Amino acid sequence: MIPLEVLETARKELTDWRSSGMSVLEVSHRGKDFVECAAEAEAAFRRVLGVPDNYKVLFLQGGASAQFEFIPMNLAAPCDTAAYINTGQWSKKAIAAAKRQGLESIIVADEAASSYTTVPAAGSFEVPADAKYLHYTPNETIGGVEFGYVPQTSVPLVADFSSTIASRPIDVSKFGVIYAGAQKNLGPAGLTVVVVRDDLLGTARPETPAVFNWKTQAEADSMLNTPPTFGIYLLGLILRWIEETGGLTAMADRNLAKANALYKAIDSSDFYSNPVAADARSWMNIPFILADSSLDQLFLSEAKEAGLVNLKGHRSVGGMRASIYNAMPIAGVECLIDFMNDFEKEHA
Ligand SMILES: *Cc1c(COP(=O)(O)O)cnc(C)c1O
Repeated sequence: MIPLEVLETARKELTDWRSSGMSVLEVSHRGKDFVECAAEAEAAFRRVLGVPDNYKVLFLQGGASAQFEFIPMNLAAPCDTAAYINTGQWSKKAIAAAKRQGLESIIVADEAASSYTTVPAAGSFEVPADAKYLHYTPNETIGGVEFGYVPQTSVPLVADFSSTIASRPIDVSKFGVIYAGAQKNLGPAGLTVVVVRDDLLGTARPETPAVFNWKTQAEADSMLNTPPTFGIYLLGLILRWIEETGGLTAMADRNLAKANALYKAIDSSDFYSNPVAADARSWMNIPFILADSSLDQLFLSEAKEAGLVNLKGHRSVGGMRASIYNAMPIAGVECLIDFMNDFEKEHA
């Protein structure tokens, strides 16, 4: 979801942006107005996330999936070693990309034994000292599995924050690289945010495409070529909405209250269940299954009639999944819980 207030602002401004007589969709990315807009979005991102001065914030394209490939290309030579934690489907894609890029990727922890319903205990894995970085997925969007801690390691920590960025305060200084497709919590599809510590710039392989070379893009303020202008504009509006609604501390309170309410409803029922270990439950993506999966289709169609959509679990796992990103109000979660209770009464 994108906050309704933000969509309404965008609609109001769509045909005449900053009194230019033009839409933000029409202006040049090199024009003064857009350059200012991008600088404001970056400044807001730095304020909201608390990004220290020795980090660059890049606005790129290609999604988090492109970064799966460009992380190895920017940080390691072929045949170098990198460490990966495997907590599920997005981790696996990142690992596969590292292999494609020639890395010796060492899986330092793999949660296969729990069918990816857990995260490794803090301190339970060892990262080889020669690893160029340690990669992990703080929130596995499909499995609904989330780290409750930031792994400690002496090598640069690289984190795929696609589905949990800006859901709560984080200490950016613990990370070497944070990256996220913006479309889940920060904006529309088409914008990818990469936050990278200065000392990790300049190690890209020579064949790295220039538009995906973090150093080249940092030097060009992410405007080596045309950036995803509408995404950057909307990111700025969404960050302003986060600030106006109390910043990430208030966001965390709301997100935790939403997640707790839904987990409580699931746990207090024999009809619904969530398989994830208590200390690894996601605040953002809550998968659940019905005791009788033959009712899945009926659940989805009655939910749709009640105005509740996008509840079908990822095609690879089935069941249901409630993605309750930043912009989902608590009322949306309460509405889902009421519906689930009614459905259970009728069909259990
Ligand atoms: C959605 C998602 C991705 C893929 O993002 P794209 O921008 O579509 O490439 C990667 N990682 C995680 C954790 C995601 O949730």
